[in-house]
Amino acid sequence: MKKDSLLVHAGRHPERYHGAVNPPVYHASTILHPSVAAMEASGKKPFDGVRYGRYGTPTTFAFEEAVAAVEGGAKAIAMPSGLAAITGTLMALLKTGDHLLMVDSAYFPTRKFCDAVLAGLGVETTYYDPAIGAGIEVLLRPNTRLVFTESPGSLTFEVQDIPAIAAAAHAHGALVAMDNTWGIQSFQPFVHGVDVSIQACTKYVVGHADAMLGSITVADEALWLRLKTSVAAFGHSPGAEEMFLGLRGLRTLGVRLRHHAETALKLASWLKDRPEVASVLYPPLPGDAGHELWKRDFTGACGLFGVILKPAPKAAVDAMLDGFTHFNLGYSWGGFESLVIPTTGHSIIRTATKWDPPGPSLRFHAGLEDADDLLADLEAGLARLKAAG
Ligand SMILES: *Cc1c(COP(=O)(O)O)cnc(C)c1O
Repeated sequence: MKKDSLLVHAGRHPERYHGAVNPPVYHASTILHPSVAAMEASGKKPFDGVRYGRYGTPTTFAFEEAVAAVEGGAKAIAMPSGLAAITGTLMALLKTGDHLLMVDSAYFPTRKFCDAVLAGLGVETTYYDPAIGAGIEVLLRPNTRLVFTESPGSLTFEVQDIPAIAAAAHAHGALVAMDNTWGIQSFQPFVHGVDVSIQACTKYVVGHADAMLGSITVADEALWLRLKTSVAAFGHSPGAEEMFLGLRGLRTLGVRLRHHAETALKLASWLKDRPEVASVLYPPLPGDAGHELWKRDFTGACGLFGVILKPAPKAAVDAMLDGFTHFNLGYSWGGFESLVIPTTGHSIIRTATKWDPPGPSLRFHAGLEDADDLLADLEAGLARLKAAG
């Protein structure tokens, strides 16, 4: 089945629900068992069927089935947020004495978890250059259990050579996890050697900026059981309404993503030629540092890209950002609305590589507004930048 058709069908079983197109939303903690024997039998298969709310309901299973299909994996685990999906994966696959290779361009809270929590548990993290590719070989140690990737980086947009990294990791017995939030629908993680694919479903899956949700997807049953056992032990339990919103969002993901990507390419191409702009970070743009890898491994894109301005005073950049009509200031992305954040200084921390742009850096999310309105908003913003500069 092609991707758009899969999005329509994944996780739906109308025959189980009186023909209702969408699976019902189960609000359930307690599940009643008909007999002691049935109760005991369900206890022997904790992840099979409906047993207790925290272990999942038909709403959970519908969402997990749908996400697994969309990511191209076999099994998924619903998580209460993208960050919980990341930390849940790290906690399940690492123990005291293990070594983790973490990409230097990782989402900042991921880095924070390694430094603040994993370090305290005796798990050592080595950060590596996102451009390392097969060169990761020299960083792999006998106790390296996991190589964590994120491609493109969600603030700086480096595209990683995932197949080369996976080949080296697997040759040394390490697993590969990927934060695939940017590449949902356009990057097939399991085709490229990834073992665990993570989605911040808060972004494009939910797609409407109104719920927190995450997912962990794998292609392998044994690995699923390992992850599920750990995640269940921690008590992660996403809400029923959130998973309903995730399922609803998935149905329109294909059309939304194409529109986000088309608009982003228009805006990025226009910005690239502006005299106020030093460079644009968007792998689909020819000339982008990650363009060749993106062309090789991705089949599409999304609406998130970065812009590096030529040197300008902070007050001028602030005037540009404060005055936008459509690009409102807010964290997150993947919703229907356009967003912008300044990324200079505070949110980009590097230890293995240098991030030293020639001017202030920004991150834009192209929403579903009319592209001409967005271009006009950017043009007026650059005029404010110039006037205050
Ligand atoms: C937002 C984000 C996350 C975290 O997702 P939450 O649902 O906000 O916890 C993880 N990775 C990336 C790349 C993100 O952009």
